[in-house]
Amino acid sequence: MATPVPAVRDVVTEARRLYEQSFGSSPEVVVCAPGRVNLIGEHTDYNDGFVLPMALALVTVVVGSPDPSQAVTVVTANKDVEEPRRVDFYLPNDGSTLSPGQPGWANYVKGVVQHYRASPLPGFKAVIASTVPLGGGLSSSASLEVAMYTFLQQLQPDDGDKVAKAVACQQAEHSHAGVPCGIMDQLVSVLGQEAHALLIDCRSMEATLVPLSDPSVVILITNSNVRHKLTGSEYPTRRKQCMEAAAILGKRSLRDATLQELEDARGRMDQVTYRRALHVIQEIQRTVQGAEALKRGLYEEFGKLMVDSHNSLRDLYEVSCRELDELVSAAMEVKGVYGSRMTGGGFGGCTVTLLQAHVVDRAILHMQRPWQNNKKKNTARHPTTVEASDP
Ligand code: ADP
Repeated sequence: MATPVPAVRDVVTEARRLYEQSFGSSPEVVVCAPGRVNLIGEHTDYNDGFVLPMALALVTVVVGSPDPSQAVTVVTANKDVEEPRRVDFYLPNDGSTLSPGQPGWANYVKGVVQHYRASPLPGFKAVIASTVPLGGGLSSSASLEVAMYTFLQQLQPDDGDKVAKAVACQQAEHSHAGVPCGIMDQLVSVLGQEAHALLIDCRSMEATLVPLSDPSVVILITNSNVRHKLTGSEYPTRRKQCMEAAAILGKRSLRDATLQELEDARGRMDQVTYRRALHVIQEIQRTVQGAEALKRGLYEEFGKLMVDSHNSLRDLYEVSCRELDELVSAAMEVKGVYGSRMTGGGFGGCTVTLLQAHVVDRAILHMQRPWQNNKKKNTARHPTTVEASDP
């Protein structure tokens, strides 16, 4: 059975309670922003390509109140973050920048404060509570940034430009969390709408809603509950390889390159760079085709593109892992499943599966079976599932 998604009002209640415990008063402002799942278009956003994410009912809530001083205190309810779970700092009043520091999670807050697009900001007290799993590839970080930005908008309104808001949140992640992410996560957290996916052109930042409300299909997210600790350099390395490939092809980014141009230049680049570029160029094409297929209700076609995307991420981009591959293979064995793939940056986290509504329970059981059979050998936590789109 899929884990039910907690209601936003329950998360708000939890945040309010912690606020009252921490500060002895009730918060004046309550905001939230969604996490997201990417249906197709992985590692294309930082190549100026297309992505097709959808916002989720998993959210980050921020509750709080302004403070007449320049003091900021933020408490997170999330027990998975590094300690301490409360931070205090002052807003600089001399134009100097707010430096990142410890604990790491607070840098997302500091970054958003730093890149906020209106001034002067008052100090504030705030509590964060979230149902987006941390580090699971569902963008807990972007939902935190966007929720925090929305909170600041209530304290000192900006001009309301939504794309500029997403860009400010992206800058926060670059400068303060040290993650050179693309724009997808923040844009879909700002612009996503219920019962729709969002086709985003990451170059122009144009976003087109793609209706996704057919009750006969479900989007299922399965969290492998593994996160392989690599050096942390895998993401920047992939980005660099893409930039190298684009430079060899004489293009501003891989968005501008064709498959023919890549084949013609194959002899001028090493094979790893070639494989990375091949994934990106094909994945951009798959994403545009996928959005069209979804619009027309061609689920078989969309499902095939999902599987092609997974195989490419596994073999060409090399960002999958055994657990994700097993979940995708298990999903694809179930009749009524259209397609399945890893989603998010990779090396753990979640898979996303498109399937017929009436086979959801069967698919969940089947995807969990390898873990049940291998309970003793497998130290990983049991995978968990949520339905992203309720029929
Ligand atoms: P994700 O794919 O979930 O965005 P990241 O590793 O990019 O994964 O970001 C996760 C980080 O974001 C956490 O380690 C933490 O620092 C921060 N974060 C996300 N949600 C919260 C929260 N509710 N409270 C505190 N920090 C959070």
